[in-house]
Amino acid sequence: MINVTKTFLPPKNEYDEILNDVWATQWLTNRGKLVLELETKLKSYLDVSSVLITSNGTVPLQIAVKILGENSEIITTPFSYVATSAAIIWENCTPVFVDIHPDYFTIDETKIEAAITSKTKAILATHVFGNPCDVETIEKIAQKHNLKVIYDAAHCFGVKYKQKSIFEYGDVSTVSFHATKLFHTAEGGALFCKDEKLFQKLYYSHNFGHKGELDFYGLGINGKISELQAAMGLAVFPYLDYILDERKKVVEYYNANLDKNKIKKIQLRENTTWNYSYYPVVFNNETDLLNVQTHLNKVSIYPRRYFYPSLNTINYINKAEMPISESISSRILCLPLYVGIKESELEQIVAVINKSLCL
Ligand SMILES: *Cc1c(COP(=O)(O)O)cnc(C)c1O
Repeated sequence: MINVTKTFLPPKNEYDEILNDVWATQWLTNRGKLVLELETKLKSYLDVSSVLITSNGTVPLQIAVKILGENSEIITTPFSYVATSAAIIWENCTPVFVDIHPDYFTIDETKIEAAITSKTKAILATHVFGNPCDVETIEKIAQKHNLKVIYDAAHCFGVKYKQKSIFEYGDVSTVSFHATKLFHTAEGGALFCKDEKLFQKLYYSHNFGHKGELDFYGLGINGKISELQAAMGLAVFPYLDYILDERKKVVEYYNANLDKNKIKKIQLRENTTWNYSYYPVVFNNETDLLNVQTHLNKVSIYPRRYFYPSLNTINYINKAEMPISESISSRILCLPLYVGIKESELEQIVAVINKSLCL
């Protein structure tokens, strides 16, 4: 069976070795030695001004929305994983969708201003598949209208825009270290924030609002990660360059061998150093997609329909028409991409797709 992704597992003995520290200190959570070590390593690898590791990639979104959104309207993208809109609604804010750009698949910055009302407090946009939003234009709009900017950068581990980590853009940026993501701690994530005062608030919020043992800054939640998960991150960490190289090879294979006349690919934003996190292909119509999916499934190959359905069509969300997002959503399929996928498997995937498109 070939799935859309396969978790990279480090050699078990290397994980065990790190776990020995946990047994030695008998310290399992509450920002232990391993979490702090992983933060230090990530800060330097990613070249970011701050990093706070969290229990997953959704809680930091919720914390950021709670602090910056203040029960208001938040402008967001319909083309993302459900966690993006769910974080807004869960925190009693209202998502206001703005359609996406047909080539970049990120929020269409030219349509943001028309969606701003007196109730708008923030923009929450996703750098889809590691492809950056137009961060400069969004920054200008935010300054002009006094809005905060949160980026769901769940897919962006290692991505740079104009030589700078993508996590450095916006007021707060979040990433996911879920097992299906490029760098993982089984479950986990992180948030990034350049403003020291805001970072401090986010930090307190992820630890029940504690400001010291008896003092509270305010309301908080539990967004901490355990030492066991940090150990996984530390065991994966030395393989990062290898992971990126291997993924790049797979992407290059698809680029060279898929029938380009029948599919469209994501357009990466200029000045982006990408991380090869996903391989999305867009078909001419949904029938072609379903046809390709059926033929792949028949030989136990399971690509995934990321992102489908378009979030504005989900039952508990206020309906709004987002024609570009709905159209891309219905035609996009992410192909298997992971370390260790064999060349013979890639050959098979490409052959099935090219052949299905000629039927
Ligand atoms: C994976 C993902 C999340 C959620 O991350 P978790 O770590 O699973 O909570 C949020 N947004 C996007 C776009 C994602 O792909």
